[in-house]
Amino acid sequence: MNLVLLPASSQIGAQLTVTDPRRLKHLKEVHKAAPGHSLSVGLENGPMGRARLDALDDESAIFTIEHLDTPIPAPLPVHVVLALPRPRMLARSLENMAALGVKQITLLHTRRVEKSYWQSPELAPDKLTHHLILGLEQCKDTRLPTVTLEKRFKPFVEDRLPGLLESAQGLFAHPGETYACPHGRALDAPPVVLAIGPEGGFIDYEVEAFRAADMQGIHLGSRILRVETAVVSLLSRLF
Ligand code: SAH
Repeated sequence: MNLVLLPASSQIGAQLTVTDPRRLKHLKEVHKAAPGHSLSVGLENGPMGRARLDALDDESAIFTIEHLDTPIPAPLPVHVVLALPRPRMLARSLENMAALGVKQITLLHTRRVEKSYWQSPELAPDKLTHHLILGLEQCKDTRLPTVTLEKRFKPFVEDRLPGLLESAQGLFAHPGETYACPHGRALDAPPVVLAIGPEGGFIDYEVEAFRAADMQGIHLGSRILRVETAVVSLLSRLF
């Protein structure tokens, strides 16, 4: 937690109050925070700056805001379309995407996604938000990504994807494709829609559907990476 990222409701005037046990524990055990210390703070989807800790006990931490004018890092111009991974991998992928600056995430059903993953409690909005907040606290950003669930492949590709691609370049990562993943795109270049497959990969029908939608297949070399590693490698290489 390099940033204490709080809901807007935590602020009253110049004061910030933290009551949730995870943050209190982290403030005590990792930051070894004590009254008088100045920490990086931010408000969800709001400004970021520093605040001085006034009081800390088992129930709450109270800060006085020093300033809220630290610049927020630029987002990555990318919309990640991720085949829904198993819950633990989803949690880590959400955290990593949030930390790397992704602001738009679609979780998509594909043939090789286990249907049971859609029943996971990890898909509850507060759980998704929790993992995104962990990523933002890590990288020091306040803007929460949006997460859209698409439980059917065909309506997404036929009805929603063309709209997303009107102003973006479409790429899908698939081992064995001819083109290597592009690298070093400028942050002000047109945005990218990047599709990443499930553990079993995309099936031929899905690859053809992406191509028909004018998406370009890309590879990352001959090593097959886990989804969570592929997400990070693709984003790092692209930007
Ligand atoms: N078993 C599958 C690979 C699945 S890896 C197969 O052999 O096709 C999970 C996802 O990560 C893939 O669908 C792809 O989107 C991405 N990925 C992993 N390694 C990759 C690589 N070397 N090149 C391109 N994409 C890769």
